[in-house]
Amino acid sequence: MKNIDKVILPLTTLALLGCEQAKDQRPNIIYVYPDQFRNQAMAFWNEPDYAEHIGWKADPVKTPRLDGFADESIVFSRAMSNCPLSSPYRGIFLTGMYPERNGITLNCMAERPQSSLREDATCISDVLDAAGYSCGYIGKLHADHPTPNDPANPGHYVSDRRPEWDAYTPVERRHGFTYWYSYGTFDEHKNPHYWDTEGVRHDPKVWSVGHETDKAIEFLRNRNEERKKDAPFFLTIAYNPPHSPYESLDDCMEEDFAIYKDMDYSELYVRENADTTLTKADAARYYFANVTGVDREFGRLLDELKELGLDRNTIVIFTSDHGETMCSQGTYDPKNSIYTESFNVPFIIRYPERIRPRVDSTLFSTIDIMPTLLSLAGLNDMIPSSAEGRDLSPVILENGKECDTPDAALYIRNVNGPYNEKGLVEGFFPAARGIKTDRYTFEIAIQKDGTLSRVLIFDDINDPYQLNPLDYKKEPDTFAMLLNKLDAKLEEANDIWHRENRLDNLKF
Ligand code: CA
Repeated sequence: MKNIDKVILPLTTLALLGCEQAKDQRPNIIYVYPDQFRNQAMAFWNEPDYAEHIGWKADPVKTPRLDGFADESIVFSRAMSNCPLSSPYRGIFLTGMYPERNGITLNCMAERPQSSLREDATCISDVLDAAGYSCGYIGKLHADHPTPNDPANPGHYVSDRRPEWDAYTPVERRHGFTYWYSYGTFDEHKNPHYWDTEGVRHDPKVWSVGHETDKAIEFLRNRNEERKKDAPFFLTIAYNPPHSPYESLDDCMEEDFAIYKDMDYSELYVRENADTTLTKADAARYYFANVTGVDREFGRLLDELKELGLDRNTIVIFTSDHGETMCSQGTYDPKNSIYTESFNVPFIIRYPERIRPRVDSTLFSTIDIMPTLLSLAGLNDMIPSSAEGRDLSPVILENGKECDTPDAALYIRNVNGPYNEKGLVEGFFPAARGIKTDRYTFEIAIQKDGTLSRVLIFDDINDPYQLNPLDYKKEPDTFAMLLNKLDAKLEEANDIWHRENRLDNLKF
């Protein structure tokens, strides 16, 4: 008995202490965002409990792990990527500021020296680092202008591609991320490369999603002091797939491709707006294969989190930087458009014991992510004044706190400004602005001379595949209502269209 007492008491004491610590410790946050992963590419949307919240069919994909994860989470049906393009998304997510303020107005590459994450911007990782978190970044960053700063070859770009797109991010530009295993942008899915915390390059010659999951698991296990012991962590994992290329077995795992390889177009394409005469049509098999592969690796990460006993106090988010049109609307451009396949993204958030699993239709924008996550971590008093979005944590926690929910999500499309004599892009041109409301998708595009290019209105309730644009001249009340909402949103965002009175100067 004596021995047993001796053993039991310390264990009980330890368990109590452990509980106490877990209660006091801020939640860990894992933010997983594969690139170009559209909201429609998750199988659970076809299940009745989910399907009743949407008006469209999910892709014919196998995503068993995401299906299970969704059942434990809040699934946002209307998460919108305000500027649905790689670098601009990252800028908004990291800083909580719109592109004009965070510096990233266009995709980062050597010819666009002005599009780069502001070094003095306060990022979510800067705040979490200051609050004692260990912050790790794994995967594609694509937020810095490439410069000749190859650590292995000073004075040179990281490759001899011209123009250069990929970039090395030195320590002083890592914004509080103290664990680093990342690169700029590079699209060979089975030949990826990374620079680690010390700036050493790794070329593992394996499918990037599996490798990055291995690195994330190392971070979780913390056997080599990847993070501070006894401190909360913020781990960001930016898988590149299912981003293009999606043309061959070089782009995905064969076991995943096997699921889709014999499906014909009528099985692969369930959206009524898909044009399978596009030469891109074969890509769906490889795209869906990468979706299934990402699903499996995401599941492996969740298993490890549980195995380590970290799952209860960890907020896990699964989202993407933008969607993928995949032959919808007859366009070859997978992103950078207001069409729902591009603009709408997954946003699934799990926070055990703190949230009620459900589907939520709040218009949740990229701009709202930073203040919302900081607030969920109990750091609402550390949300920087530079953040331009809303703290939507009361929606997530249902804690009775007041919350100004958005009535629209802003859409931004910028294109290159003029080239200067050095062949570099000067600034940007704000080619289109729009909004998504609870019912409509609305876009106004302009020509470079500022005149009207087009007005696009879709009734997403009655026309979920956006096949029948409304004629704004025949719907003056709807048009006026949407114009007012767009005007208000542009003012709220202090957008260049607002500052330059673009709407007032258009002739409709
Ligand atoms: Ca992207």
